[in-house]
Amino acid sequence: MIDPKLLELLACPRCESRPPVELNGDLLVCTECQYAYRIEDGIPDMLPESAIPPDEWKREANSSHA
Ligand SMILES: [Zn+2]
Repeated sequence: MIDPKLLELLACPRCESRPPVELNGDLLVCTECQYAYRIEDGIPDMLPESAIPPDEWKREANSSHA
């Protein structure tokens, strides 16, 4: 789990407006571009090159429910 205070400090590195990210399962999802960031050992991987495109992580989420 991630510290809610840390979550508040995080912002999407891909968006110029630095929008907040939301916790979505094990991922942090940008409220603007919907790109997702993984959390590794409780540490968010907020690198733009690590961002997961929305169609990719949504497909992953769907397949885990099947
Ligand atoms: Zn974004």
